[in-house]
Amino acid sequence: MERILIAEDEERLGAFLDDGLTAAGYAATVVGDGPGAVALARDEDFDLLILDLGLPGLDGMEVLRALRAQGRRLPVLILSARDDSHTKVEGLELGANDYLTKPFGFDELLARVRVRLRDAASAERPRLVVDDVVLDLRDHRATVGERPLQLSAREFTMLEVLLGNAGRVVTREEFLSRVWGYQHDPGSNVVEVYIGYLRRKVGRQRIVTVRGMGYSWMRTGSG
Ligand code: CA
Repeated sequence: MERILIAEDEERLGAFLDDGLTAAGYAATVVGDGPGAVALARDEDFDLLILDLGLPGLDGMEVLRALRAQGRRLPVLILSARDDSHTKVEGLELGANDYLTKPFGFDELLARVRVRLRDAASAERPRLVVDDVVLDLRDHRATVGERPLQLSAREFTMLEVLLGNAGRVVTREEFLSRVWGYQHDPGSNVVEVYIGYLRRKVGRQRIVTVRGMGYSWMRTGSG
């Protein structure tokens, strides 16, 4: 069972998150202050931290800074009423993986929790091999046949999402969420642009456009 640490000093909200995540099948632990959050994240084996910013003892940003300074790669989702872009950028630069503003819908929180846990699970898999394409997920190197591919970080993640879902359609929204996180503008054509870049590098025919739905990796020999 995946374990989620909730650092939240508002008791009612902490209990609400605890109940909701427990009902969704996670093991949740609530801590109400910053130093406690740092200690628990350091000493126990959590899969995700949901982090409030206004915490007693140690601000959420300081908690994040302390964890990253210790080399902790624990995925962190900031949950805060602060919705200015300066604070969001600061959180991201300190190594947060996502940022959700209060008030929030529990369904949206749960969807983001699932994405972060799935990304973390795939990060533990060292290699992704589909047909003649090999992605080294640790070193972020990619090859087709024996030929190395020069990919930007975003192109690499996009290819990882496509290959990880080979045989099914990946929607534009999935790409935006997995590759661009919360920083995306839903109206932009950035997915289409990057699909174009990838096609130039891996071969145009390998990424199929499924009209009105998204994109799919065309497996060799699957027609
Ligand atoms: Ca608070």
